[in-house]
Parts: sequence; C-alpha cells; structure tokens
Amino acid sequence: MSEAVVERKVLQELEEDIQRLVEIYELERKAAFCYQCGTCSGSCPVFMAEPEYNPRKMIMSLASGTWQSFINSEVAWLCAMCHTCLERCPQRIEVSEILTEVRNILARRGILPDIIAEKLRRVMERGMSAPYSKLIDKRRARYGLPPAPVFDAEAAKLVFDIFAVNHVLAAKKAREGGGSP
Ligand code: SF4
Ligand code: SF4
Repeated sequence: MSEAVVERKVLQELEEDIQRLVEIYELERKAAFCYQCGTCSGSCPVFMAEPEYNPRKMIMSLASGTWQSFINSEVAWLCAMCHTCLERCPQRIEVSEILTEVRNILARRGILPDIIAEKLRRVMERGMSAPYSKLIDKRRARYGLPPAPVFDAEAAKLVFDIFAVNHVLAAKKAREGGGSP
C-alpha cells in the first residue's frame, strides 16, 4: 500500500476539520461506549481482503486524536460504502458515515490518491470511470443489453458543479505544484 504523504503543514490544517467532525459525531463520548467487539471490522469486506484497513481502529484513532497515520495512508480511501459496519454496530456508531466525512475533508484539500483523481477525470469526460473501449459495446450486445446511454456532458456538468469535482481536482493539482486552484 503506497503512502499518501500528507505534508506536516497540511496535517496541522486538517486538525481543525477533524476536531469539528469528532465534535459533530460526539465521537469521544461514543468511543467510550464502544464494546471493542470488532463487529465493524469483522463484517467489513475490505478488512477481509486488506487487514491494514481496520474501521474500528480508524474510528478509535479519530476519537483519541491519533488519526495522522491513517489519514496519511491510502487506506483511508478503501471503504466500499456497503454500510455493513453501521448496520451491525450494537452501539449504532456511524462508522461508515464518519469515514466518508473524513474522505470529504481530505478531498476538499486535494488529498486523494492519483487513481481516484484519474477516475473522476474519466467520469467528467465520458461519464464512465473505466477507460472506454469498443469491447464494452460488444459485451453489452452479447448480454442483450441496450447500447450504453449517450453521455450528456451538459447535464453531468451540473452534477459535477454541485459536488465541486473541479475544485477537488484543482486543489490536488495545486498541492502537487501544478498551479493554483
Ligand atoms: S462501509 Fe466501509 S468500513 Fe463499513 S463495512 Fe463497508 S467497506 Fe467496511
Ligand atoms: S461494532 Fe461498534 S461497538 Fe463494536 S467495535 Fe465496532 S464501533 Fe465498537
């Protein structure tokens, strides 16, 4: 697993956002009620494949202020958003919601892995995250599916504007020395 390598200065700036997140979700209080049962991690499909991704530990590190190492790693981006952890936690701790908010905080500052930025660019350009090839059309035809819908760039732009996708990509470029957002 490669490291995201977030600069020390940016880590300091992130502190405020993470602290706000901890307060909004009352994480310090909820962490005290966590049974440490491991149901969240034990049910997590990503943890099964990649033990470095441990939702219980990530939530605890946010609550205890020791989140720097996981923020500084691409594991923060592995969640599959299945919400099994949220559904199964006996204490109803919002594990997946909190981890999603962490990624939102990172993305706003342009901290996201190259592969995700690349997929965002592809979606903006063609409406699909995988590289387009004629093979896609052939496979759709083979399975009796209609041709892929034509990408409506104008309508899609509205969605991208709402989710500030351009801002995220520009912030990443600026962080990496490619110009200001
Ligand atoms: S939502 Fe994310 S953290 Fe929770 S079980 Fe699914 S993959 Fe794991
Ligand atoms: S499932 Fe809930 S109570 Fe159990 S370890 Fe995870 S966060 Fe704590």
